[in-house]
Amino acid sequence: MIRIAIQSKGRLNEDSCALLKDAGITVDEVKRKFLGKAADFPLETLYLRDDDIPEVVADGSSDIGIVGLNEVGETGADVTIVRKLGFGRCRISLAIPKNEEYTGPQWFEGKSIATSYPKILGDYLAKNKVNATVRVIKGSVEIAPAAGIADAIFDIVSSGGTLVSNGLKEVERVFESEAVLIANKNITPEKQELLDNILFRFDSVSESRDMKYILMNLPSDKVGEALSILPAMRSPTVMPLAAEGWCSLHSVVKAEDLWDKIMQLKKIGAEGILVLNVDKVIA
Ligand code: ATP
Ligand code: MG
Repeated sequence: MIRIAIQSKGRLNEDSCALLKDAGITVDEVKRKFLGKAADFPLETLYLRDDDIPEVVADGSSDIGIVGLNEVGETGADVTIVRKLGFGRCRISLAIPKNEEYTGPQWFEGKSIATSYPKILGDYLAKNKVNATVRVIKGSVEIAPAAGIADAIFDIVSSGGTLVSNGLKEVERVFESEAVLIANKNITPEKQELLDNILFRFDSVSESRDMKYILMNLPSDKVGEALSILPAMRSPTVMPLAAEGWCSLHSVVKAEDLWDKIMQLKKIGAEGILVLNVDKVIA
């Protein structure tokens, strides 16, 4: 049995449960539960506030956990970062009132900065030899300058919309974050085996999320050109069609390249293009 700590509610809860589910590990999504058990894998779930996850994994109360890299950085917990998971992307940035002229990190000298991330901010200030007062606020950090609580803020930004609506501008991107899978440093061999199994599943899920399966009809004399557009895992599959001079071509493409490839394929005469989601990629 291996135990995983995940956020009980909040931004990472849904994606964490979805990742486990796609990996064939069905966990309870009941929000107010503390401990749960997967129906189809020897795994226990511990639902916690995200702030508590790094320490709980570091001290072995949980073997592994899913949490934002920002929380790992802020707690300084001694854990292994096993995988970046590609969701919950955000950054922690310094922002100042939009009418101020920004002159570089020295702008913050002698100023006060409101944040929920005093450790990461303290490290940044020390590195840049800036003396500033750090005011720890747990929520609604972005209103601090307008409320006269601080001159600037150090807070999570994803689109930047919250900053703009509070009359602030982002001036330094200090810490890039996304959800990560973390593990205790002294995991037993039995648990390591379960973790390896989970990792194998996570990797095939994340690879499949990046891929699309594409099928199309193509004039047979264009197959050579199509092959140069579509480098597949091995090579695309080409099958003759009943109609003389035409074939059907199947391949896998990276989701980010999809539209670019489709335009190129249309140019060489591809028709009836179908794009399907890939459920799993097993290398
Ligand atoms: P908890 O009640 O568990 O302490 P919280 O209020 O501290 O939750 P959430 O707002 O749910 O935290 O955010 C959880 C994590 O999601 C953050 O630590 C960060 O890694 C990531 N995150 C936060 N804000 C954003 C955002 N705007 N876009 C993307 N990811 C974000
Ligand atoms: Mg929290």
